[in-house]
Amino acid sequence: MSGGVDGAVDVCVVGLGPTGRALAHRAMRAGLTVVAVDPRPERLWVPTYSCWVDELPEWLSHSAIASRIDAPVVWTKQEHVIRRPYCVLSKRGLWDALPLDDARVIAARARVVEAHRVELADGTQIRAAAVFDARGQASPGRRRTASAHGIFVDEEIAAPMVKPGEGLMLDWRDENGAGPDEPPSFLYAVPLGDGTVIFEETSLGLRGGMPQHELRRRTLNRLAAHGIRLRGDEPSEAAHYPLDDHPPKAGLGQVIPFGSRGGQMHPITGYCVADSLSQVDTALDALQRGEDPIEALWPWQARLVYWMRMRGVYGLGRLTTEQSKAMFDAFFTRPPRQQRALLSAHDDYTALGASLFMTVAQTWPFRWRYDLVGWTNRNRWVDYDFGRPEEVADAIREIDHT
Ligand SMILES: Cc1cc2nc3c(=O)[nH]c(=O)nc-3n(C[C@H](O)[C@H](O)[C@H](O)COP(=O)(O)OP(=O)(O)OC[C@H]3O[C@@H](n4cnc5c(N)ncnc54)[C@H](O)[C@@H]3O)c2cc1C
Repeated sequence: MSGGVDGAVDVCVVGLGPTGRALAHRAMRAGLTVVAVDPRPERLWVPTYSCWVDELPEWLSHSAIASRIDAPVVWTKQEHVIRRPYCVLSKRGLWDALPLDDARVIAARARVVEAHRVELADGTQIRAAAVFDARGQASPGRRRTASAHGIFVDEEIAAPMVKPGEGLMLDWRDENGAGPDEPPSFLYAVPLGDGTVIFEETSLGLRGGMPQHELRRRTLNRLAAHGIRLRGDEPSEAAHYPLDDHPPKAGLGQVIPFGSRGGQMHPITGYCVADSLSQVDTALDALQRGEDPIEALWPWQARLVYWMRMRGVYGLGRLTTEQSKAMFDAFFTRPPRQQRALLSAHDDYTALGASLFMTVAQTWPFRWRYDLVGWTNRNRWVDYDFGRPEEVADAIREIDHT
């Protein structure tokens, strides 16, 4: 396969996040010669990744799953039970399920990434028939953003709200202390399978995102509403990344962006790992056939899906809390295929079109549909002032000690 580029390996993967590691692993298993580059290739990933169980590729060992929720719950104005199993991935389990034993792993930062050449920070050159760029995303700036603040709470303390085997996918109940004139956010809370439950207040689609201090305040308000008192030393995690990194242009003879770098970040859910894992073999099969992996990953159906989802995130980012509830109420009464088309399927454009159309058509009251499609209140939350961290610190202390 390395024919055509003298002294080259078949594949060089730059970046060993979950998507780059999966790519390097599957390339190696396919019999290709692989070099993988990352400044800290042995470091376990920091975020905790989750997905729908049915999104994971068949080749991935079940040991990658740490915790399974058979019927996660969505709270809007009412409770929706989603009969589709969801899971939290084990960081160590996923890592071990993607061994790189036959690949050459180099602990270094790439300085130049080109179609057939990667130059490392110390000047070392790697030549490869194909170079995949899986270096992740740049910071979002004022773009559409996913922001979240998660607090890891012991299972026993979390039990009044989330018991083992249960999970709150989207909790829109009025418990986070945000008023009707403040940008909306929801709670995501799932057991991680290690004796803790993550409570994560999440904002999707705001330009520039929501600051951590505001998300933390809201998370604590929700816990307090259920009588949950923290010890005070619980670890936390932060998320702040763009939702609008678009798919690359097709064409042979160029670097192949992959994972969140390659437009595989879902513009509405902020998820990317499971979809990328399930697309790894599509890219590698195309490569081995001498075809364009970008074309294989991004046929017009998948690009259309991406385009429609971007319309969705624009809509999401301008809604109020009440409007978000009404919209999600409409969405979670759509048939399973339409829900799946929005939440995860890579290229089911007909079901996604129907899902978006019907969600808008069934959002009440009628005038809120104008906000959803952007005819009114297009820039509702742009430049919203969330205040300074110091101003909410007192409120947080009060909640912590009451
Ligand atoms: C707190 C949090 C929770 C999240 N939860 C989920 C979730 O539940 N499900 C989900 O799907 N997504 C989730 N996400 C989004 C998640 O970050 C991405 O989906 C995922 O990390 C994308 O993986 P990736 O491999 O594309 O990029 P990354 O994970 O960003 O990995 C990029 C890699 O490239 C390396 N790199 C960077 N520059 C260079 C360079 N110059 N040379 C060599 N290597 C380089 C980095 O060291 C890193 O290892 C979450 C994010 C956060 C922050």
